[in-house]
Amino acid sequence: MTGYVCKYTPVEIIRAFDEGVCRIEPKVKSVEKAMSLTHPNMCSFMKGALEEIIRENINEIILVNCCDSIRRLYDILRGKVKFIHIIDLPRKITGSAYSLFYRELLHFIGAYEAYKGKKFDLNKFKKVLAEHKMENACKGKCVAVFGGRLNDGVIENIKRRCNLDVVNLTCTGISRPSKVGQEGDLIFSYAKALLNLPPCMRMAEDRSKLLDDLNLKGVIYNTVKFCDFYSFEYTSLKKTSNIPILKIETDYSDSNSGQVLTRIDAFLESLGVKRAIAHPVKSGYFAGIDSGSTSTNVVIIDENKNIISYSTVPTGARALGSAREAYRIALKKAGLKEEDIAYAVSTGYGRINIPFSNESVTEITCHGRGAFYLDKGVRTVIDIGGQDSKVIRLDDAGNVVDFVMNDKCSAGTGRFLEVMSRALEVSIEDMARAVTDFQEDIVITSMCTVFAESEVISLIARNKDRNDIIRGIHQSVASRAVSLLDRVGRSGKYMMTGGVAKNKGVVCEIEARICEKIIIPFEPQIVGALGAAVIAAEKRQE
Ligand code: SF4
Ligand code: SF4
Repeated sequence: MTGYVCKYTPVEIIRAFDEGVCRIEPKVKSVEKAMSLTHPNMCSFMKGALEEIIRENINEIILVNCCDSIRRLYDILRGKVKFIHIIDLPRKITGSAYSLFYRELLHFIGAYEAYKGKKFDLNKFKKVLAEHKMENACKGKCVAVFGGRLNDGVIENIKRRCNLDVVNLTCTGISRPSKVGQEGDLIFSYAKALLNLPPCMRMAEDRSKLLDDLNLKGVIYNTVKFCDFYSFEYTSLKKTSNIPILKIETDYSDSNSGQVLTRIDAFLESLGVKRAIAHPVKSGYFAGIDSGSTSTNVVIIDENKNIISYSTVPTGARALGSAREAYRIALKKAGLKEEDIAYAVSTGYGRINIPFSNESVTEITCHGRGAFYLDKGVRTVIDIGGQDSKVIRLDDAGNVVDFVMNDKCSAGTGRFLEVMSRALEVSIEDMARAVTDFQEDIVITSMCTVFAESEVISLIARNKDRNDIIRGIHQSVASRAVSLLDRVGRSGKYMMTGGVAKNKGVVCEIEARICEKIIIPFEPQIVGALGAAVIAAEKRQE
């Protein structure tokens, strides 16, 4: 079986040799062996592919000189596998590019004949070409996956979650050449057809036309960690295209990270194309359960969306146990039994693991809905929770129109404040006060929580005033929130939700930076659960 990674690989030529061929799709959990053979800065796809090749003992490989990562993959594997060949792929689609690529294909055929000890059969090749099927046909409105290659598991997840056709325009999804001219040299016509596949980012071609030709509702744009090709294209598309675009970054592992799926779900929800599971909804009471990283919150409302009760418990190590406990407390406070709840919606990190909810909705949509329920004038929600921070933009009807999330690390979140309060040996409540009587303007320069903790420890060692350090910490969190805010664009009124909204110091620092007042709800931690309960109640009205 010959493994390949690129759509410009002459797969049909290998098949004409009666040989098996498969796209290398890394399914590895760790890239330990690959890391010992390559530089850590190589892209995560290349490291995953190398690990997969070692693990699956793939001994025949064909590559194209796509990028530095793939050239390094070739260097590492040369001499270690039985057969490896790299094809020089032109960057332009011109007459001389066809000739170059044609010669490259002839060279490959020669090398493969020598390795396999058999001759290339032109008639078999014609038969293989005749068997082609077109993929990616999009019948009506659709959602496109664009940008860098995306793990098959994530693509499948998008298809499962979206109620429109999903077109995969990355280098793992585009159809094989379907029309190969039969006149003249067949290999030349094939080289031409391969080069005329919809261009990937490596080709010096305008790719925006690929999107223009489709009837698109939205675009999910993937970038791969340590791959430089795609971020520029995303920035220019975002500026020039009217189609809603969601950018995600993946590490090409098969572990569809929760944050990536949360973004995808929220995007599909904002487009109104998230596949819904139909449940008959009776009258009664409605519950929202927000299973967050730090706290689990439950809100119960009646048919008129009046809040009947709510509860908050720490999530701890058992997300489901905390959800059950928060649900039990909220039901008890409301004087209700579980069977009185007509419909329950779960949200937050643990949302998909709540067996007593009827449906799960992302925390982005729920915080938006909860904030809008509390104040119809709110257009921007700043949600800073224990693990991540988000800024959500709403339209006049309370629908999410854009959002950004900081989910790569705990910088600027509740966890950051907790770590700092431990380093300073002050309680989290004491950390939450606004510092007005400061003496020195201390700036915490490290973005990373671990480095920032060391910075704070060294400030303590230098006898800096504790108040000044606390103010520096508030400023650090506020500046991260404002940079997220600037990515979606400022639009008032503003509401802050999540546990960090209780920190007056952080709120004051954000207000000072944006020169606007921020609404703080009576219980900012329950806004996501409230939004979930409102969505549950609206099920009955649908
Ligand atoms: S980016 Fe282009 S050249 Fe590189 S692997 Fe994908 S399709 Fe092939
Ligand atoms: S993800 Fe980017 S860097 Fe990695 S192989 Fe593909 S194009 Fe090259």
